Amino acid sequence: MKKYTGKGVYGAVAIGKISIFKRQEVSVKRERIDDIDAQKQRVEDAKAQATAQLQEIYDKALKEVGEANAQIFEIHMMMLEDLDYNDSICNIIETQSVNAEYAVAVTSDNFAEMFSAMDDAYMKERAADIRDISNRLIRNLQAGGSDNALGDDKVIICADDLAPSETVLLDKEKVLAFVTAHGSSNSHTAILARNMNIPAIIGLGDAFLSEIKDGDSAIVDGFTGEIFISPDEETTARLEKKQKEDEEKKKLLQELKGKENVTLDGKKINIYANIGSVDNIGAVLLNDAGGIGLFRSEFLYLESNDYPTEEQQFAAYKKVLESMAGKKVIIRTLDIGADKQVDYFNLAKEENPALGYRAIRICLTRPEIFKTQLRALYRASAYGNLGIMFPMITSVSELEKILAICSEVRDELAAEGVEMAEKVELGIMIETPAAAVISDLLAPMVDFFSVGTNDLTQYTLAVDRQNPEIEEFCDTHHEAILRLIEFSAQSAHKHGAWIGICGELAADTSLTERFLRMGIDELSVSPTFVLKVREAVRSVDLSHA
Ligand code: PEP
Ligand code: MG
Repeated sequence: MKKYTGKGVYGAVAIGKISIFKRQEVSVKRERIDDIDAQKQRVEDAKAQATAQLQEIYDKALKEVGEANAQIFEIHMMMLEDLDYNDSICNIIETQSVNAEYAVAVTSDNFAEMFSAMDDAYMKERAADIRDISNRLIRNLQAGGSDNALGDDKVIICADDLAPSETVLLDKEKVLAFVTAHGSSNSHTAILARNMNIPAIIGLGDAFLSEIKDGDSAIVDGFTGEIFISPDEETTARLEKKQKEDEEKKKLLQELKGKENVTLDGKKINIYANIGSVDNIGAVLLNDAGGIGLFRSEFLYLESNDYPTEEQQFAAYKKVLESMAGKKVIIRTLDIGADKQVDYFNLAKEENPALGYRAIRICLTRPEIFKTQLRALYRASAYGNLGIMFPMITSVSELEKILAICSEVRDELAAEGVEMAEKVELGIMIETPAAAVISDLLAPMVDFFSVGTNDLTQYTLAVDRQNPEIEEFCDTHHEAILRLIEFSAQSAHKHGAWIGICGELAADTSLTERFLRMGIDELSVSPTFVLKVREAVRSVDLSHA
């Protein structure tokens, strides 16, 4: 038996045989040509064919993994039409008198390199998308075959990495697990695996691929990130048991869909979901969340090469609100800075970025950025049940300034005759000890609080959340944190506001009862944890002291 360890991106166990993913490698030769127009026409034909193929993949993905996850193929179709990409292909054909395949391959390398060189993790991953669409074009130019097909048996797919289109095209009925040597947990492939409920491990390293072969028997443990090749009897028995228990647990959780978040003695709370992108809405709906408790809007800025315009933001917020069909959607304003850096903001390097120029501090000192976002948010408010939340609050005067800017933006839009919701709830994150300690002063000014336990923990216990070396000092159950949350809950209720928790601690079911006893009204967690938290809430009895 051999064991390899990577990073599990979806927790489940799969037992079966290995199938090494065979990619139709494209090899391209540089050829001199005379008829430049004919080569350009070949590119146009290959593009039309690629668009039709991608439409087909999109339709398949739509059925299998939902609209939010199918969107990547719409993006691929858009990338195929990108002006810079197409200009580059034409220029290479024209200036070098070369064949279309070569021009596409060189363009692909240039663009992929450009994306890979970007600091931003999301943009880096777009390099794989460029390669994916370019290889499709080249295959079409070479009159290449169809997309990858599998045999009749269910298998564990092993690959160096998988492109999103390769992942979704694999027949879900025949895939037991995805296992890759490379890849990141933020890649669309990992997201797709999670949403397809298929165990997946990434980052197993190059040695792994060279040491396995087709047909090897294996067990994938997506919880621990381990894969066992030719497992011994004891390992097989242990993981068979784990698989059975997990399946039973998941089945039981599914039965909680449509049920209320209510304790045994009748107290109801809201369980909402946290998202970082419009793409995650499918998972929110699939897991039956009652709303969105935290939409980290900075994703729009992280994905962009420049400040997203009011129109771009409006389109994204409107889409989230419409998809949630009247359920509560709380969008947090820009939380850039610290670990979330965006080049075009030109932020200076700081000694202690977590204590630095970030989030609301940027918005208040660069009000043009803040106002653009608020205009987009208020305009989108007409399409659903919007709440706006502000991060990193530390003082009353800050909040006064924010509320004044909000009224100014509202008045401006009203004067322009723009339709808006009558009521947009305004809230703040309680994620600094200062905000928690003066929560009695802040509560009368807002409709709600949402406790960001990730930052509240780092600031209260003085433990850098980015530093794995000091994880042992990061006691998330520390009484100081729990008391700050409790005091904030008392303050909120005393002044008619509601309070939720949207940091990772909200999903810690060993604290669910404590949170309920504090009077927490809402818990906002990753979509995949909604049913687990519902289960915990339904087992609590608050009638005993
Ligand atoms: C938090 O700090 O708990 C939080 C929810 O915000 P983020 O993790 O985005 O900083
Ligand atoms: Mg935070």
